[in-house]
Amino acid sequence: MTDGKIKLKATKLPDQITAICCTVCSRVSERPLMAAEGEAEGEGIVICPHCLAEGDIDAKLERHAARLESRSRWLRALIGRLEVPSPAVLKEFAGPEDIEQVAAFWDSLSDLLDESEQLPINQAAHRLVSLLQEYRGAWPLIKSDAEVDPERGKALAAALAKRREFFGLGAGL
Ligand SMILES: [Zn+2]
Repeated sequence: MTDGKIKLKATKLPDQITAICCTVCSRVSERPLMAAEGEAEGEGIVICPHCLAEGDIDAKLERHAARLESRSRWLRALIGRLEVPSPAVLKEFAGPEDIEQVAAFWDSLSDLLDESEQLPINQAAHRLVSLLQEYRGAWPLIKSDAEVDPERGKALAAALAKRREFFGLGAGL
């Protein structure tokens, strides 16, 4: 690789990969026939069959890079200017099932916090992680509940602190 060239290999994708995002055109291809794969500076490169068939790879790379540059300028220009709705607005969009799910989460969380006094920290932390995982879909509603309701806010903070105590600071959500 001394000439700086990067050799890509044509590969049949494993069945469990149902879509790829092409490095060259940035489009998502569902169930592609195949892909060309390689790596540069530790980052994977995937090229879709459309790009392989159409060619013009360098021009497409240039177009994609220009799009990203203008996108990043646009994103940066938004900093400090967005006035977003309050988290409390989420509730207005929640259906009965969502509300039920969130209520079930708060019940389980309070049970778990009660029990966790008796549990070794590793067990308590693992059960918390499973609980958070189980209700991952409801997380925005849970978080918005915790913002509005001080009791729930405290319970969630206590749970997250316990998790941090065991798993360390990297355990974000
Ligand atoms: Zn492509």
